[in-house]
Amino acid sequence: MSWRPITLTAVAALAAALAVPGTAVADDPPPPQVESRAGTEAPAEVSGLAEPAGAGDLVQAAKAHLEDPRYHLDPDDLVPLQTITDGTDRTVRFAQRHRDLPVFGGQYLVHFTDRDGQRVVTGAGGRFLTELSVDPTPTVTAETAGKLARNLLIKNRVARESVEAGAGELVVVPRGTGVLAWRIPLKGHDRAAKRPILRDAYVDARSGAPLFAVDRLHFEGPVQATGQSAHGEQRTLNAYQRADDAYELRDRARPMWNGGTGEILTYDAAGGDVFDYLEPGIPAGTEPARSPTQAFGPAHTESGAVDAHHGAGEVYEYYRRLGREGLDGKGGTMHSVVNVTLSGEPFANAFWDGTKMVYGGGGPDYHSFAAGLDVVGHEMTHGVITNSADLVYLGQSGAMNEGLADYFGNAIETDALGIPLSDPDASLLGQGICRTAAPAECAIRDLDDDRNAVEDYLGVTVSLDSGGVHLNSTIFSGALWDIRERLGGAKTDKIVYKALTEYMTPLDDFVDGRRAVESAARAARLPARDRITVARAFERHGITPGWDRRIGTDSRVLVDGLTDAFVKPDVAGDRYVAVNSDADATGPTSVLTGRVRGGKAVKLSDNDQWNTAPATDGRRAVWVSFDDAQTSFQILSRPLDGRSPVTTVHETTRLVASVVVSGDDLAWEEVDLNTGESQVWLKRGTGEPVNVSAEDGAQGLQPSLAGGRLAYLRWAVQDGVPHTTPVVHDLATGTRTVLPEVPSTGDTPSASAVPVLTSRYLVWLVDTDGDGTYGVMRAAADGTGATALVPDGPELGFPTWLDASDSAVTVGLFTSFSVEDNAGLPKLFQVPLNGGTLQRYSCNRGDQYLFAAGDGARAVWLDGTAADTDLVTRPGPARRC
Ligand SMILES: [Zn+2]
Repeated sequence: MSWRPITLTAVAALAAALAVPGTAVADDPPPPQVESRAGTEAPAEVSGLAEPAGAGDLVQAAKAHLEDPRYHLDPDDLVPLQTITDGTDRTVRFAQRHRDLPVFGGQYLVHFTDRDGQRVVTGAGGRFLTELSVDPTPTVTAETAGKLARNLLIKNRVARESVEAGAGELVVVPRGTGVLAWRIPLKGHDRAAKRPILRDAYVDARSGAPLFAVDRLHFEGPVQATGQSAHGEQRTLNAYQRADDAYELRDRARPMWNGGTGEILTYDAAGGDVFDYLEPGIPAGTEPARSPTQAFGPAHTESGAVDAHHGAGEVYEYYRRLGREGLDGKGGTMHSVVNVTLSGEPFANAFWDGTKMVYGGGGPDYHSFAAGLDVVGHEMTHGVITNSADLVYLGQSGAMNEGLADYFGNAIETDALGIPLSDPDASLLGQGICRTAAPAECAIRDLDDDRNAVEDYLGVTVSLDSGGVHLNSTIFSGALWDIRERLGGAKTDKIVYKALTEYMTPLDDFVDGRRAVESAARAARLPARDRITVARAFERHGITPGWDRRIGTDSRVLVDGLTDAFVKPDVAGDRYVAVNSDADATGPTSVLTGRVRGGKAVKLSDNDQWNTAPATDGRRAVWVSFDDAQTSFQILSRPLDGRSPVTTVHETTRLVASVVVSGDDLAWEEVDLNTGESQVWLKRGTGEPVNVSAEDGAQGLQPSLAGGRLAYLRWAVQDGVPHTTPVVHDLATGTRTVLPEVPSTGDTPSASAVPVLTSRYLVWLVDTDGDGTYGVMRAAADGTGATALVPDGPELGFPTWLDASDSAVTVGLFTSFSVEDNAGLPKLFQVPLNGGTLQRYSCNRGDQYLFAAGDGARAVWLDGTAADTDLVTRPGPARRC
């Protein structure tokens, strides 16, 4: 990792360029400028143009402009999405298609203005992928893709059982030369996390490889907002008198009402379950909030209907002042649903699902979440974003999606309530939804939290919070709020809105987002000093080109920027194995190997099918592969030196969840996709595989092989209660030892997990009191003499996984459940196998979730610290951080 000091070069350059004394320099057109984008010939932005454009149809004029060879794109691959008007400025937003299929995240925009009655192009830009070459014929059916998405992209086994896959649609995912993919909606219920699941999963339509999943529910997190109004203000509501003389919250008084559509409609779910509100639209039987008289009484205050309806009107009027008719920009009806519960319990949250706002809340601690106008503004802004830049809800683009929702939500609230920007509470989000807690304690986020990308970026991999969409949002929104505090609401809201609607595209990162705001400021003809203010706000928040390379780390990078963060690596001797998507080929994931002392990683597997779950004993790699057309899972093997080709060791119709190798012995966990049951299989040399966990009413999971033994976790239900214990097989004698259950100190049996063999010991995790914290147990390798290496309790806390060598046990730990800072992300710890103190392994500040233990004290892991996911290693623990 190179370290370069943060400079104000960009600000200085801008100041120098603009600091011409005297006249209105900012109105002079800047010289034309072209910014390239890695991986495509089409420029990220061409600005500073003043080229005459055709006078007829605007879309045709935009396409004609893009014929120019400097764009390197074919206008026939563009379909118009929308035209945005801002005074005399007009922008056409296009979506890219490749062989008639939508390209995920591909959008391009062309900007026009009028100069002396003449239409001119002022610039164009976005994200158009020129290197795509995709055969549009799927070999995997949508139905199979749905099953694969469900089984492989929903990690939580319990949640997975509730998940249903909806109808698939073919799209092109822009990796390498493009991947033909099914987009599959997944819907279900994560009972442990107490929240619904609604995701778009993307599955390779030729190999069946799951690619990634994007959350469709834009949640606000566990704490939040308030509403006569919950706060006692008397509100005037636009309602509708029905034929039966009842009144309902149906607002047809806004300019967008055209006699047929364009209402603001607020429904009362009457305590209905939030899981019934995940489909687009409003479910049959859900009625608009209704009152027998014109006075909507206390029940409508309590449900949130009054606040949601009033707030939606405020949001509509705010966006109308920015030139927008409704969330979709076309005056479409705006729907809100209040008073949903979590199966009868208070649902302390709110979300936008792509078509409507849904508000929970109510209960001892919170008002309805509709009681916070900033929360209402936030949710409805997600609707504006969906219908403009459509920022993908993952990683940095997702954090900008959240950041813009916060920015506008807070802007709407401070304007409507007349809160001065100098008020310390003005920057707080959701400060009003609590019944008793003070604003600062109640708030979800603070746009004045002064976070700097380089210093404060939360190094999560995509396995947490969709890659930090909430966790990293204030880095970007903080810069926007700084600008608002300095330039005022009127000016700033206009350029941020212009950036969102006329410059940003779905996969933008923070630096793209900054460029969009600066381009919008230039296009809006902001004077030089204001544009310096804009640049300085982004500098102050660390958003400068290459900022992610300035974050310090203490590990050696083996593979930089993995695009798959869901698969555990493995290591033995001086060799590691891992999985990555290949940016240059059509195959989605392949197995890599390399040496822990560094050097280039080489590919061990072909790219024609999905390869995952790699393991090694230092001599060969084994992994799971499947060619989905047959719904067949294969265990493949290849020597690490690559001297002989890949061989198929085993093939099954059941899902192979993990595989381990030791010399000529292989063991794996097989999951029946119909029943969800797991069994452990063993194959010795060229012999037939044997189901070693076969036993009535019991399942086998998490196999481990070492020193001529096989261990696995036995899971069995007795009298309705699950029991988990390690089992050890001696491969030479066939002796099978079921370890006695560790004595429970609570109401439920102790829970064991992840048994790992070393040459002399068996180690595993155990929770003796059912509180979710664990300890580490160690026994002799034959299962005798079990003793606690680390006692169950706060020292170990909440582990993610465990692995061991002949000298050390490595565990991943959540030291807290606060993910508000890097310290709350899972970190690696190590304890000597012979006993000793548990110590930090690497001082890297970010996520260290998936790992493997190597020889001695070495570990290899996926690290999220440097704002992307790297495969890294250390030879031993850092000890003190
Ligand atoms: Zn949100």
